[in-house]
Amino acid sequence: MIGLFGGTFDPVHFGHLRPALELQQSIGLDVVRLLPSHVPPHRSQPHASPQQRLAMLRAAVADDPAFTVDTREFEREGPSYTLHTLKSLRAEMAGTSLSLLIGMDAFREFSSWHRWREILDYSHLVVMTRPGKLPPEQGELADFVSLHRVADATTLKSRASGLLLFHPVTQLEISGTEIRKILASGKRADFLLPKSVLEVIYSEGLYATGKQHGG
Ligand code: ATP
Repeated sequence: MIGLFGGTFDPVHFGHLRPALELQQSIGLDVVRLLPSHVPPHRSQPHASPQQRLAMLRAAVADDPAFTVDTREFEREGPSYTLHTLKSLRAEMAGTSLSLLIGMDAFREFSSWHRWREILDYSHLVVMTRPGKLPPEQGELADFVSLHRVADATTLKSRASGLLLFHPVTQLEISGTEIRKILASGKRADFLLPKSVLEVIYSEGLYATGKQHGG
């Protein structure tokens, strides 16, 4: 069973990596594939180039067997729609159980995603939850939940796609936006992201760090 975790990763940080690792361990994923998006459809465009975001991701998970990095979205022009990515993965892995991992915040906007209902034709959806953040109780998303939801992670292995699981993870109040702000103001962002990622940021002069850092 393979986990898929997409994002801009501008930069990748412990708020991405820790919950993804917890899901890998607790739902028994063979590996989590990190999929950096090329042209994210729902948000402002990244500050770092695709090559720089890839260098940061590779630095973050280089020696960790729980993660791999998948660059297929960089190879496609136009918006990086998740549905297209899933179709391309499915073409390579017929029959493999695929689980798309997303945060509850992202899930609440899920019905605005490109052809969102078709996503479960290609993968499961695992929504990372935390106390107090509930799924919608009414509307088309609530209907979608009641149609596809399973209570137990072991069920995901029994099928290749089509199921929805809510799973609690440790969520850390870390965002790429905050890290970029800290660095742009000349402060240190250590302990919010791997040191190896900070090294790429400094060597590339990313996020207006220039030469301000103290080593
Ligand atoms: P930015 O602040 O630039 O918007 P971001 O840090 O929120 O970026 P993205 O790379 O765009 O991160 O997010 C990728 C995925 O990771 C999304 O599904 C998002 O919900 C999730 N995510 C981001 N930060 C966290 C966090 N601290 N805890 C859990 N999930 C997170």
